[in-house]
Amino acid sequence: MTLLQISEPENKPMSKSDNAAKRLAVGIDLGTTHSLIALMQDDAPKVLADEQQNLLLPSVVRYYDNDVEVGKTAAYTDSEDAINTISSVKRLMGRGSADINAFLSKSPNDIIDQSGMPAFNTVAGVVNPVQVSAEILKKLKQRLRQVTQEDLYGAVITVPAYFDDGQRQATKDAAKLADIDVLRLINEPTAAALAYGLDKNEERIIAVYDLGGGTFDISILHRHQGIFKVLATGGDTALGGDDFDQCIIDYILQKTDQQKPNALVLRQLLDKARQAKEQLSDHTGVDIDGITLQRQQFNQMIAPFINKTLQLCRQAVKDAELNLQDIDDIIMVGGSTRVPQVKQAVEALFAKPALQTIDPDQVVAMGAAIQADILAGNNASGSENLLLDVVPLSLGIETMGGLTERIIERNTTIPIIKTQEFTTFKDQQTAMMIHVVQGERELVQDCRSLAHFELKDIPPLPAGMARIQVTFQVDADGLLSVSAMEKTTGKSSHIEVKPSYGLDAQQMETMLKASYRHAAQDIATRELRELQIQAESLLDAVQQAVAKDKDLLTAEEADEIEKHCAALQVLQLGGRAVELARAIKALDKSTQAFAERRVNRELKRALRGQSIMENRDD
Ligand code: ADP
Ligand code: MG
Repeated sequence: MTLLQISEPENKPMSKSDNAAKRLAVGIDLGTTHSLIALMQDDAPKVLADEQQNLLLPSVVRYYDNDVEVGKTAAYTDSEDAINTISSVKRLMGRGSADINAFLSKSPNDIIDQSGMPAFNTVAGVVNPVQVSAEILKKLKQRLRQVTQEDLYGAVITVPAYFDDGQRQATKDAAKLADIDVLRLINEPTAAALAYGLDKNEERIIAVYDLGGGTFDISILHRHQGIFKVLATGGDTALGGDDFDQCIIDYILQKTDQQKPNALVLRQLLDKARQAKEQLSDHTGVDIDGITLQRQQFNQMIAPFINKTLQLCRQAVKDAELNLQDIDDIIMVGGSTRVPQVKQAVEALFAKPALQTIDPDQVVAMGAAIQADILAGNNASGSENLLLDVVPLSLGIETMGGLTERIIERNTTIPIIKTQEFTTFKDQQTAMMIHVVQGERELVQDCRSLAHFELKDIPPLPAGMARIQVTFQVDADGLLSVSAMEKTTGKSSHIEVKPSYGLDAQQMETMLKASYRHAAQDIATRELRELQIQAESLLDAVQQAVAKDKDLLTAEEADEIEKHCAALQVLQLGGRAVELARAIKALDKSTQAFAERRVNRELKRALRGQSIMENRDD
């Protein structure tokens, strides 16, 4: 799930930008509380507003019989409105019914189980989180119409760094429903760092502190040689500005001696509390219906929440195996970092000023827009900040005997350039056919054939004398180009890999992406097979050891090991890698003490043997 960023001046993006017309590419921050859409305009990212000049779209979707309304936070007046108004849907994206219990108790919605997935029962029928998110995306897309009639080429959408595959896939599905091509999903903290364009060459450790409405995220990023890597993430999915609001509500209720106000009063109170809180960021005191609240008092109320975030920061730094002093930059993200006390506390913790010159509400969307512009090929000259993940399958060439020689191993971060040397097979050979393949297998026939090309004009030399340096390069879009140079003469030949059947770059990209997609299955099969082999050898080893040293085990321990063996034997035949891996681990663990005792026994035997030897020497 790690996304990376690289700065690679020589590595120009493929010639997508040849046509002068720029492609319309946007960055989208699909947030829990608010969502934003941004676009590059005159080389600067700009967040788009709606007709009323609002930049932030509340991530709230309201369903009617025959209509959907997005963004309206207008206070609902009865429970029916509440049931049909869905907020914070991001919390449910890509989740199963099993992990929504915490959500259920708080939600005013009628959440049901739809074949293992949570869904909302509304007047418009049952809608799932992906559909609700798609409505938010569609609404954001409408904002584009204000600035251009052009078709949208694609979008970069941000997700929390901790989002797993399921949550990321759900986000992609929502985009698809909204008819938006996802150029890439990138991590929110990485987007924020991109927006700040932090020094590209220096090695840096960056902490991104994101305090939003209902969630707190801390991410520790490492930037080295142009690559961004997420070292650690932490946070609390139920901590944010909402808690600050609640403090103020409690304060007012206490001051006005109210016990349990009804839902409507509470709703109004909530709006007032939030307003008061936001005012306190710029004023030292506010008046709420005749009750004064000083910033000082407010700071005290929220201190426990701020302290909790600091604790989580310490933990994340520790998880990254770093110290607080190692952090070079601190970026403030999220509306709640506007609270002066929050910024102060964070700066005190890291003993450094925090970056907040870019609007903390907009910074993530802006970073996404910068990235989208690059991925759309609009930014040919400034090709730095390419964000990518990894090569999903190894890339290599065919060598003698139909064997594959891997040049770029799978899971290598891209963009990447790698070089390897080859030689000629026959005397006086002046040309060489290079067959580019993809896959993990040893035989070319088991790999995917990507392209063939001929390298001509090799100087005629005896076999094995020519030294041909082959360079593989995969750019940020996953496109491969190969170049070759004959080293003894310095004669070089640069070849862009084109599939033999004349696809253009665009089609090739599609083909490559498609092969990557199917390749996931191959990898899964391979991994499963490896686990099965591992299971088999572990079972063998354990059974042999038990047969040999049974006396080292208590009856209970023997039972336990027997149980784990039996479980593993069953799973070994099945097709579930995760369970198999778990069973292997379990068996391994249950035999740990046993293994130690066996080692001790062996050691004693060996020592005894050695002393006999020594005696003999005498
Ligand atoms: P999310 O990323 O979860 O969608 P945001 O980053 O948009 O959330 O943050 C929303 C939170 O920021 C809300 O609790 C809101 O009240 C708070 N907020 C916005 N502006 C201010 C401000 N000026 N002072 C204090 N809190 C603010
Ligand atoms: Mg946010």
